[in-house]
Parts: sequence; structure tokens; C-alpha cells
Amino acid sequence: MGSTAEGGLASEPAPGALAPDAPLTALAGVGPTTAARLASAGIEKVFDLALFFPRRYRALREAAGPDQSLVGELVRISGAVHKATLAWLPGRRAMVTITFACDDGSTFAAQFFNQPWLKKNYPIGQRRLVEGTLQAKGKRFVVQQPKVLPISADPSGEVQLRYPEVEGVGGNKLQQWIRLVLDELDYSAVALPAMPEGLEELSLTAEQLLLAMHRPRDVAEHEHARKHFAVREALALFRSVEAARRSRERRSARAYPVDPEVCERILARVPFALTNDQKDAVELLWQRLAGPGAMGVLLQGDVGTGKTAVAVAAALSVCARDGLVAFLAPTELLAEQHFASVSAWLKGSGVEVALCTASHRRDIPSSGPRLIFGTHALMSGSVTMPGLGLVIVDEQHRFGVNQRMALVHKGDNPHVLVMTATPIPRTLALALFGDLDAVVLRERPPGRAPVRAVHVPTANWSRAVRSVARAVRRGGKVFVVCPAVGEEGEKGGVLRVYEALAKQFRCGYVHGRMKASERQRQVALFREGIHDVLVGTTVLEVGVDVPEATLIVVVAADRFGIATLHQLRGRVGRGRRRGLALLCGNKSERVAAICRTTDGFELAEADLALRGSGELLGTQQSGFGELRALDPIRDLDLLRRARDAVRAQGRGAS
Ligand code: ADP
Ligand code: MG
Repeated sequence: MGSTAEGGLASEPAPGALAPDAPLTALAGVGPTTAARLASAGIEKVFDLALFFPRRYRALREAAGPDQSLVGELVRISGAVHKATLAWLPGRRAMVTITFACDDGSTFAAQFFNQPWLKKNYPIGQRRLVEGTLQAKGKRFVVQQPKVLPISADPSGEVQLRYPEVEGVGGNKLQQWIRLVLDELDYSAVALPAMPEGLEELSLTAEQLLLAMHRPRDVAEHEHARKHFAVREALALFRSVEAARRSRERRSARAYPVDPEVCERILARVPFALTNDQKDAVELLWQRLAGPGAMGVLLQGDVGTGKTAVAVAAALSVCARDGLVAFLAPTELLAEQHFASVSAWLKGSGVEVALCTASHRRDIPSSGPRLIFGTHALMSGSVTMPGLGLVIVDEQHRFGVNQRMALVHKGDNPHVLVMTATPIPRTLALALFGDLDAVVLRERPPGRAPVRAVHVPTANWSRAVRSVARAVRRGGKVFVVCPAVGEEGEKGGVLRVYEALAKQFRCGYVHGRMKASERQRQVALFREGIHDVLVGTTVLEVGVDVPEATLIVVVAADRFGIATLHQLRGRVGRGRRRGLALLCGNKSERVAAICRTTDGFELAEADLALRGSGELLGTQQSGFGELRALDPIRDLDLLRRARDAVRAQGRGAS
């Protein structure tokens, strides 16, 4: 297939004659429809195909036969077909099992689902090469996700490659075109910019690099080329981050200096003594708000480290000079709650505290010291914000970068404070929020230990109910979180669980589809101790703050993501007593991770490893979907070096 030079179609270019910027339709077999599909995946020119790198690389181990030491590894084994069977599984699913006998006398099986016709492709005695992950099932060895090649095949070396899919384009075709490009490309026309200082060791010719990405001889060769392209991606990322930072620094914003007497008055409004970390953060924010330039700060701190108080202290320095502060929360419930607690802090202070959400519209006063809590409804075009001096975005992970920008553009260059509890791995934070200055709260308020989580199998639900009873008996309050409202009365839905628990406990429920007034009433009943148990959907996830809550039970925990589960457990143990989370359902990897550690940063990395960065951050918004070679976790060191290089260049330019 690979050699197309002779006997190929007349329209195919000669070796070395394919210009990098030629349109895709220059390739045999690519018509306008396919070209359009490829274009929507970002592949527009011939060279883009060369840059369409395979995603997964694993070292493949050649073996004469399966053995225990190879279990879990990607292997390539040759064997002769020993037996072929076809079985029908429930639901009319076909399973073809081919047993191979190896030269060393051992055997292994390869299984194929839903392809009953495959059986006849495996005549007894015929030899094949089988690639896949080796698993042990009892005493038998099975190769999972097998890829079977003719024994004469020239296997692809010791690295296994997988290309990402392009919607509407067959994988084999795509690979065929990539092969064609690699064979025919005019490499001399490829201009690779020089590597920045300090990273020159990654330089190679374009031909060496591209072949190493697609047809590596070994892992080391591939890794070297991958790093080269990873650096290029990191450089592009940081260039845009630096551009954003410079444009922010150039913007002139109103300055809000505070004098010592005002500082005293502000701190006196917070009903507790700040931790040292909180104090440092507040000091820094005050300093930045005093100018020059527009402030851009990312405040990171695990659930319960007390970000709200820091934000309010910062906000008050703006209010002290008759400014308007918009405090953006990701859910109505959270906005309502911030509004309620902060209103109490500021009673009689002269600061006008208001709530503005979809179900709670009100006009924003046009002058004087104002602190407005709201959801994204605040961003709608009809809301005007005269004198907007500071925008606070809580739980940033729920907002896209674009939304953040929309709000910033509303005001006259407001300062920006972004807060997040989703511990973003340092690498990602660097790249995503690199335009912001990061401040981290590590310390927790006194007496607030991290919340341990325990898995409870579905069959042991009664154990969870007994724990609820025990917590209530000791004067604690209990959250029960369900994955759905369950309006049809589904098992595990809020309504059904509520009905069951209401027989035994003083119990209320909340979900996103109820009226705001009813939701507030339910939360108030719970907060004031009329109810001991509050059942709800993940509207409870962020920020609901009830100090006496000691236990949270998550129904079907395996249906939630790591970040959500970690947030949820942060709802309890906020008072003097320790909190506990019971995660009911199947023990998924995510549930296991939450039970294993309380360290938010470790969890974030686990999350990223399980899901991939794109999903964690919303691919489109984060721009991480574009990454082909860079691995935001493994490449921390490369990211740092690329950032330093970009900064050094920036300094050189200005
Ligand atoms: P998060 O960082 O998760 O947003 P919050 O701001 O909601 O945390 O604070 C968590 C809880 O800790 C709240 O009940 C808050 O009132 C309390 N808190 C915050 N800072 C302190 C402190 N320095 N001392 C005592 N309690 C505090
Ligand atoms: Mg919070």
C-alpha cells in the first residue's frame, strides 16, 4: 500500500513533489466533501495531515508466548489457530473466541464481539500475529482489543500508535493519506522555526521529526520528536497568555487604595479572625486594587479554605470608594446564599447588598457603595453596571474563559478576581490562567480537617441510613445528594429518596427545577434546624454553607465526577465537628480516588489522568483540544521552560 510511486494513479504527485501548503484535494482520493470534513477537524492543507499525530503510544513487547509477567502489557505474540468458536450472549450479542497455540507450547485466546462472520476467517493451523493487551482470566490468557495481522506482516515497530478519529472520515483512509503525505512530501519546503534558547537539543530536521511521530523505530525516538512538538504547542499557548497579560496591564483601571483605618473597619465586618493565608491574600488584593493597571488575580483554595471572606474584604475596598462590585456565582442557590450571609455581615454598613439572578431580577442602584451577587444573568445585555470596579468570579471552573471576558467588557476596565476550588493542576493553571497572578490559600480555618470519604456498596444502603440516624441523634445535619430529580419517581432520584427518608427523619428537598422562593425556604428550614436532612441534586454542590452539617450521603456516587464529589464532601465538617462523606453505589475509579486521598491537587491530577484535560476544562474554551503532542501533566518541565522562553522573548521585544 505504501509505495505508490509506480503504477499509482496519474494524479498522484511524484516523491518529494507534494508541497506542504497544497490543498488536500491534491491527494488521490480526497474530494471536496472529504476535504470539508477534514477541514472541520482543523486539517486544511497537506502539511496539516503530517501534523495530525497519533494520540496513544505504548511500547509493544514481542513475546514467544503469554506469561504472568506480561499481564497488563501491550504484547505481540505469534501463534497458530488452535480452535475457533462462536457463542451467543444475552441480547443476541455474538462472541467469537479464537484460541492460538504458541511455539513455546502455551495458548492464549482473542475475543471479538458482534462480528459472528469472523470465525470463518480463522482456519485451524493458520499462523497469525496478534497485538493487544494481555489479561489473565483464571488460568487462561486473553488478548484484549486484539489486532490480528497476517504472519508475514511487517509490524509497525515496538510502538503502538492510535490516530484520533475525524468525524465522517474512515480511519484506514485517513492513515493511508497520512502515509502518502509522509512519502511524497517536499520536506525541503517545510520551514520549522528555530527552537528557543535552552531547548535547542530538541532540534531535528522536519523529515526526521515527522517520521519519528508517525513511524518511530522505538519509544525513545518518538519521545524526542514528541517533546519537540510539545514545546511548539506550549510556546503558542504561552504567547497567547502573555498577549492577554500585556493587554490587561496596559489597560488603565480606576485605583482603589485603602487607608489603615478603612482596613480595620473592613476586617471588623468579617465575623471571624482571618487565617494567615487569608490575611496575605487580602493584603495582596488591596495592593493590586490600589493600582497601577487592572488587577487580574486567580485565588485558588480547596473547598472550605475560606475564599468568600477574602473576596468580600477585597470588595469592600472598592465599596469604600463608592464603587460597584459584581460577585458572580455559578448557581442561583450559591448566589442566594452568599447574598444572605454577606448581607448579615454588612448590616448597617451603608453598603447596598443586592441579589440579581434569573428568578430574582432587580435594578442595580446607580451610585454609592454596592455589592451585587448574581449568576450569569448579571451578564445579560440588559443589565447595566455603572461604576463597576471589580468583578469576582466564584468557582471559575464552571464558567468559560469567554464568559469571564464578557463580564469584564461590561464595565469600564474593572479589576478581576477569579476564585476556584477545583484544584487545577499547576501545569494547566499556568497555561489557562497564566494571564492572572495566582494566590493560593493552603491553610484551613481552625478546627476544619479535610473530610474523609467511605464507599458503601449499593446493597448496603441500610448502613448509610443507619449512619444518617446516628448523625442526627448526635445533633448533626445531613445532606443527601442524588444524581437526578427523578420526577417520574425513579429509583435514586431526589423525590424517591426524599419519600423514603421522610418516613424516618425531619427532611426537606431541593432541586434546580423548583421555584427560587421554595428552594430558599427549604434551605432555611434546614439551616435553622427545623429539618435534619436535606435531599437534593448537585445544586447542593457549590458553596452551600451550613456549619452543623456533619454527614453527606451521595447516592449513585459513581455517576458523579471527581471534582463534583470533592466539592460535595466540602459541604460538611464546616463547623466544630468533623465531617464524613458516604459514597454509595459502585466503586468506580473516581469513587476510589476520592476515598484514597483528601488532597485536592492529587485528585485533580487523578481526574485529568482519567478523563483527559479536554473534558475537564471544556475543550473549546480551554483551547486544550488543539494539543496533539503536549501532555499537560507529564510535560510540566517543558511548560515551564517554554514559558520562560516566551517571557524572555517578550522582554527582548519591549
Ligand atoms: P470556600 O473556600 O470553599 O469558598 P468558604 O468561604 O465558604 O470556603 O468558607 C468556608 C467556611 O469557613 C464558612 O463557613 C466560613 O464562614 C468559614 N470560615 C472562613 N474563614 C474562616 C476563619 N478564618 N475562621 C473561621 N471560620 C472561617
Ligand atoms: Mg466558595
